[in-house]
Amino acid sequence: MEQIKCLVLGSGPAGYTAAIYTQRAGIPTVICEGLQPGGQLTTTTLVENFPGFPDGIDANDLMERMRKQAENYGAKIWSKIAVKTDLSAAPYHIIFDDGTEVTAETLIIATGANAKYLGLPDETKYKGMGVSACATCDGFFYRKKTVAVVGGGDTACEEATYLASLAEKVYMIVRKPYLRASQIMQDRVVNHPKIEILFETNTTGLYGENGVEGGHLVYRQGQEDERKYDLPFDGFFLAIGHKPNSDIFKPWIKTDETGYILTEGKTPRTGIPGVFAAGDVADPTYRQAVIAAASGSMAGIEVEKFLSDK
Ligand code: NDP
Repeated sequence: MEQIKCLVLGSGPAGYTAAIYTQRAGIPTVICEGLQPGGQLTTTTLVENFPGFPDGIDANDLMERMRKQAENYGAKIWSKIAVKTDLSAAPYHIIFDDGTEVTAETLIIATGANAKYLGLPDETKYKGMGVSACATCDGFFYRKKTVAVVGGGDTACEEATYLASLAEKVYMIVRKPYLRASQIMQDRVVNHPKIEILFETNTTGLYGENGVEGGHLVYRQGQEDERKYDLPFDGFFLAIGHKPNSDIFKPWIKTDETGYILTEGKTPRTGIPGVFAAGDVADPTYRQAVIAAASGSMAGIEVEKFLSDK
């Protein structure tokens, strides 16, 4: 069974940055790309808020550069998905989807979190053409336009408020007759002149020629007074929650109730010696590429410290 000094699971900004740090510290590192090589960022198009790129940068290009940087320092990249772990004792045991097994002296969990979607075929059809799960990333493209935000939790309220600072009009599409968000967030959207909340409303599809031009909505779906109608908007933002990719670590690692890995204070330490978590899998709040990259560097530094203290 192959023995790895440092194994990084995940190939988003956190994973690549961690590997850049560990390799530069002379620690042989393997990055396991996982389900989505390049991570969540590759589901968007232009990244305008990653510092260092005054004109923005294509998301795939940015991730390709990070990958190359990690490889230039000697990191090995595997196209595998970890399916099972045993973190009961070091070296840690990892099993991959192709049946291979390795042990790792140190492990950086950078498996990310996936935004939840409604599951409509139109979400895939219009991805990058009006459908987004990140207002901070894509809101800029909707200046003075009309957008819809799906969800009634804190994230939806926060995204709606943010979008209202840019867009002309924001609809919130909420399936229940009430919001689930905290009172303070509710007050912000309810009293906002640009935000209109459509309660008891579901989206069944989207329409548009070369991008989203609106949605097919249903008020009180399945009830006697059900009403179907089309609502024009330019952008469709999902804010119905995220799912951190932490299931395979759960027997060993503490998570919150949603599944975000709990780390010690401001460090990426998980409580298991030599096992660190970086990026969105441990970040329910910010979920930004630059923050993921920063936490990846912290994890890399921690690995170096851990191995030299041994
Ligand atoms: P939540 O799970 O709190 O809310 C999800 C929302 O999406 C709910 O309104 C839910 O509706 C709706 N929803 C879920 N699935 C569907 C679906 N298939 N169709 C339509 N609507 C759907 O997730 P959040 O991301 O908002 O928040 C996650 C956690 O992070 C919470 O604990 C929140 O408090 C916290 N948070 C805090 C912030 C802050 O304090 N500033 C900011 C952002 C998040 P329903 O109610 O019907 O289930």
